[in-house]
Amino acid sequence: MNNNGGKLNNSGGKANNIGNKNFGDSSLDNNFNNSNLNSSLDKLKEKKLFILDMDGTFYLGNRILDGSLDFIEKLRKTGRDFLFFTNNASKTSEFYIKKLAAMGCEITAKNIATAGDVTIEFLHENYPGKSVYLVGTPLLEEEFERKGIKLIQDNPDIVVVSFDLTLTYEKLSKACTFIRNGSEFIATHMDINCPTEDGFIPDCGSICAAIITSTGVKPRYLGKPFKETIEMIERITGYKKEEMVIIGDRLYTDIATGFNNGVTSILVLTGETKMEDLEGSNIKPDYVFQSLKNIIEWL
Ligand SMILES: [Mg+2]
Repeated sequence: MNNNGGKLNNSGGKANNIGNKNFGDSSLDNNFNNSNLNSSLDKLKEKKLFILDMDGTFYLGNRILDGSLDFIEKLRKTGRDFLFFTNNASKTSEFYIKKLAAMGCEITAKNIATAGDVTIEFLHENYPGKSVYLVGTPLLEEEFERKGIKLIQDNPDIVVVSFDLTLTYEKLSKACTFIRNGSEFIATHMDINCPTEDGFIPDCGSICAAIITSTGVKPRYLGKPFKETIEMIERITGYKKEEMVIIGDRLYTDIATGFNNGVTSILVLTGETKMEDLEGSNIKPDYVFQSLKNIIEWL
């Protein structure tokens, strides 16, 4: 807490401005253009790994946001690394590589990870060789099996629940029975709803809520904002958390990942969070920018 408090104070104008009703529009357009803030923003130049949320940060649905490609280009030119990280484990890294390529952003497998990947790592690390009943999409099932997790249909050691767009009553009911009989209960992420072009649809957290209500057992949640995500990123990239920045549009997942785990965070206002949401939030980003585009000059 002290560290985060300090960081906020060091960012000068920003901390003071959060909660100030005059803050919103014009100062954002100016990129917090004052001398106190500029010195603190220089710290971004020392960062080596940029962890990027996707929806609401890099693109909106299927539309890439203005400046996103330039942002990646600047990172590449200045010799920095980046990792896209999403909690949405209904798809795999392979899916997102293709989606980004269709938007003109070419990345490789080392530039992308999901909460599903964190969960697979977590299982290998903490439950080696144990059997899993997975409530997830066929894509996620394939990924679990490809990466050596033993999936079974009866009497599993562990029930893993994810954002299952193919959920049936039978799957829900089996998961509850196994948990009631003593299987461990793990969830890939805690998000309650997933935004779509037609509005919200129930995400992993909502499916877990049904199981919690039935069994009285709460899962261990992984993904953002939990420490296992940062630990996995440290392992797969080799960077220390002091060298990282996490950028996203959601306070309780993206920014909380930084705030809770000692990683510098940047909130962008292209997605879920509006400036006024910051006033009532205990979770504070280190920096706030209108969009990725506005960060480029500080890299
Ligand atoms: Mg987002």
